[in-house]
Amino acid sequence: MSDCLFCKIVSKEIEADVVHESSEVLAFRDINPAAPTHVLVIPKRHLSSATDLGDADGDLLVELFQTMASLAVTEGLGAGHRIVTNVGEHGGQTVPHLHFHVVGGRPMAWPPG
Ligand code: 5GP
Ligand code: ZN
Repeated sequence: MSDCLFCKIVSKEIEADVVHESSEVLAFRDINPAAPTHVLVIPKRHLSSATDLGDADGDLLVELFQTMASLAVTEGLGAGHRIVTNVGEHGGQTVPHLHFHVVGGRPMAWPPG
């Protein structure tokens, strides 16, 4: 998608602080971190949100979650962390390209706002 911010980060049209990259997945630091660690993990292929995932995306989902598990180790999140994916307007999604927030480095409150 030519007008998608995260597709532009995938294509390196827009710079990001990339912490992990494979042929299918990219992970980079959030520009406006909500916690000491705040990494966004995305599929390189454009999917609008979690609701776009289909039967053929099993391997992709496994890779996304394995990437997040590895990041928790490399980012030193042994005390725990939170994985969030916002969906649509009421979910608070502002960038319509599927992404998982990995946040940690401090205790998280619940419920979210
Ligand atoms: P959402 O609100 O859609 O769940 O999350 C979008 C996230 O993308 C926000 O946390 C926001 O700070 C982050 N973000 C927005 N624009 C950029 C950008 O240009 N670069 C990076 N690295 N993060 C961005
Ligand atoms: Zn996109």
